Amino acid sequence: MNYVLYAVPFFFLLIGLELLADRWRGMRTYRLADALNSLSAGVLSQATGILTKVVGLLTYAFAWEHLALFELSESSLWVWLFAFVFYDFCYYWNHRLGHERNVLWAAHAVHHQSEDYNLSTALRQTSTGFIFGWIFYLPMAVVGVPPLVFLTVAALNLLYQFWVHTRHIPKLGWFEWLFITPSNHRVHHAQNPIYMDRNYGGVFIVWDRIFGTFQEELDEEPVVFGVTVPLASWNPLWANLQVYAGLWNDARRAGAWWDRLRIWFMPTGWRPADVAARYPQAKADLSHFRKFEVPLGRGAQVYALLQFVCYLLAGVWLLAQGDSLAIGAVLLACLWMALGLCSIGMWLENRSNAWQMECLRLVSNLPAFWLAGELGMLTLDASAWTWLIAYSLASLLGIWLARGSAAPALTPPV
Ligand SMILES: [Zn+2]
Ligand SMILES: [Zn+2]
Repeated sequence: MNYVLYAVPFFFLLIGLELLADRWRGMRTYRLADALNSLSAGVLSQATGILTKVVGLLTYAFAWEHLALFELSESSLWVWLFAFVFYDFCYYWNHRLGHERNVLWAAHAVHHQSEDYNLSTALRQTSTGFIFGWIFYLPMAVVGVPPLVFLTVAALNLLYQFWVHTRHIPKLGWFEWLFITPSNHRVHHAQNPIYMDRNYGGVFIVWDRIFGTFQEELDEEPVVFGVTVPLASWNPLWANLQVYAGLWNDARRAGAWWDRLRIWFMPTGWRPADVAARYPQAKADLSHFRKFEVPLGRGAQVYALLQFVCYLLAGVWLLAQGDSLAIGAVLLACLWMALGLCSIGMWLENRSNAWQMECLRLVSNLPAFWLAGELGMLTLDASAWTWLIAYSLASLLGIWLARGSAAPALTPPV
């Protein structure tokens, strides 16, 4: 059972409520391009997750079968409670190392790149966390937590984290002592030096209190959200690749082989001395911080939103199909999804060639859908082709209309 799939309506219901709260309170916690970028990263993560979760599942099931020290029963409530707490302990270390080591940060940074903080930020998830993430949960398999229990508590942990991504909820009294809350998770998403690398728990904040990584949100230090090396892009694929690309470039430029190898596993931000001297990186000055913003006309914004909705629906459909699809079909769907979401990202960046990219995307739909039919993913009768052609023509009309809408001047959000 895919818990995220069933949670999707609630995600969007709560996002709607948060937008209403923005209106009532005269706040602006959402910007369309940022929210679409976050949601695109989420859709991409879920789509690629159909392929990549196999890595975590197989290794976990294998370790549980061969290394489990105890036989824990799925029918015991204590096993479930234990697994829920133990999972969060493992999550704490996965998350902490995700911030403290270069190659792990490259995967996790995606979740932190948004310079806004709202419920869409919660859905902003990495597509490459599967590479090393599974290692941190092996202790659960060794103790003997059955795979079904593991998968369920993992999903519950992730779902819990959704509601804490909001600026509308203040500190919550005694709850702050035990649990991850909007206030202490805002600290986690900050780039202020005093807040950085703090509050790693998923559900419980107690691990941070025990291991010395807790920091309270302070009235005198308003949170500046985002990362110190800004993404400065609305492209969800680049969001997933940016930090890897930076590390790759530094590794390539390093004079010593040892530096080329160790850069990946060094503390986050570490660079070979010769590379740092030749290619210095400017330190961010938060007193002059400005969010990444690209002016875009109203018509172009509506166009991007409508196109994104199509990909969101396709993503939900893909999740619902889940494991019933062949690997080739899921791979095709992931590529199609990545191309489409990249194109929407380029459109949001108001690039001069964005409309050409959009046309290319619409044209490439034809062979992609044909191939999906050949792979048994879709039934392509005459009416399906009619719908696809109608969608393409409507999109072309949308591109033509949106290109005429003027971009407004930049206005910093409140
Ligand atoms: Zn984090
Ligand atoms: Zn978060």
